[in-house]
Amino acid sequence: MKQEIITASQEETKRFGYELAARLSGGAVIALSGDLGAGKTTLTQGILEGFGVLPPYTSPTFVIMKQYAVTLASYPLIKRLYHVDAYRIGTQEMLSIGWEEWIEDEAGIVIIEWPERIADIIPDNVITVSLEWADATRRKITIDTGVPEV
Ligand code: ADP
Ligand code: MG
Repeated sequence: MKQEIITASQEETKRFGYELAARLSGGAVIALSGDLGAGKTTLTQGILEGFGVLPPYTSPTFVIMKQYAVTLASYPLIKRLYHVDAYRIGTQEMLSIGWEEWIEDEAGIVIIEWPERIADIIPDNVITVSLEWADATRRKITIDTGVPEV
């Protein structure tokens, strides 16, 4: 299933993430594609807020993976969020720091920025969200769940 929307501000992109959170189940892997400044981190913050994770959020660019605990009663089956940034590394290094453990966590959700960097270890059940710069304040967001329409 594919869906496309245009957001007109950073807040709208955050809200898209917030609403996406409610549609995710444990074990989901979300790949965020898009150039620098497209809004990947902004969208991630919306997802984090959706799961009741409070700021400050630190960027995983240097630490590669930032893990958050989910304690919201409304999501009893989701306990952890893994925010991953593959910008600086490749497949072998990602595997060596625990990638498989994160994607196999059925009570976890993995959000990955720069999935292209580790394309060969992205699982088949990935939900792909692509962000494209439209102009200074607008972004085109396409979500592809990988599930064919019936
Ligand atoms: P990325 O993680 O993809 O590099 P960020 O989320 O860190 O991108 O940054 C996006 C930047 O674009 C922010 O400075 C934000 O204020 C700006 N921006 C402008 N319009 C939007 C929009 N519609 N959605 C998201 N970010 C936007
Ligand atoms: Mg980012």
